[in-house]
Amino acid sequence: MRIDIITLFPKMFEPVFSLSILGRARRQGSLQIVVHNLRDYTYDRHRTVDDTPYGGGSGMVLKPEPLYDAVEAVKSIDFTFQREALREVVFLTPQGKPFKQDTANELTKLDQLILVCGHYEGFDERARELLADREISIGDFVLTGGEIPAMAVTDAVSRLLPGVLGDEYSAYEESFSEDLLEYPQYTRPRVFRGLEVPEILLSGNHKEIAKWRKKQSIKRTTERRPDLLK
Ligand code: SAM
Repeated sequence: MRIDIITLFPKMFEPVFSLSILGRARRQGSLQIVVHNLRDYTYDRHRTVDDTPYGGGSGMVLKPEPLYDAVEAVKSIDFTFQREALREVVFLTPQGKPFKQDTANELTKLDQLILVCGHYEGFDERARELLADREISIGDFVLTGGEIPAMAVTDAVSRLLPGVLGDEYSAYEESFSEDLLEYPQYTRPRVFRGLEVPEILLSGNHKEIAKWRKKQSIKRTTERRPDLLK
């Protein structure tokens, strides 16, 4: 899969995407992330990307022309070589649909995911109307820009792609798979500050351990996120 990110702050991404699991996946070729500077799609001397809002009010609004040209340019990249690529343009906005694990799963089916980061007061409405296949919010709060939301979406989607998580990690039985939170996890030491690892986990009885974990998952979900239980 290829993920393209359109942003005013490309430098924010490299430190995050060059490290850990995503960094390794990129180096091994299981994942391609390309970051584009929105200012490269401006044609004036000052590389202007924003302007004051019609109707007055505070803040600046991202102009539609650079957004349009950037998205069209990124969409026209032929990396599937003749086969029509399955792609979606996603605008990051607090007004979008809440991002869930199911959304991440859905997005893994694409060949190309194009993430568009807003800034200031957000996008000119016409850019959204003309370009966005989907709008995503990462929660009911307002951030200064779409860069952190784009990182969150990229991370959540990428780790579900084949070959991205190494053997030491697994997306199986994680929180939100089967609409449950994950069971509690323990590692060495067996006793820490008087707190013991549950006996069942030391038993070696995998059938009973699986049963215990399922029960813990349901208990935890009931206590913390009853809204997830069907
Ligand atoms: N004026 C906008 C509003 O009230 O809906 C908020 C704009 S916000 C300050 C600037 C940019 O940050 C947005 O265009 C969007 O790209 C990003 N952003 C902020 N909060 C977000 C969230 N919860 N989810 C996704 N993107 C967000």
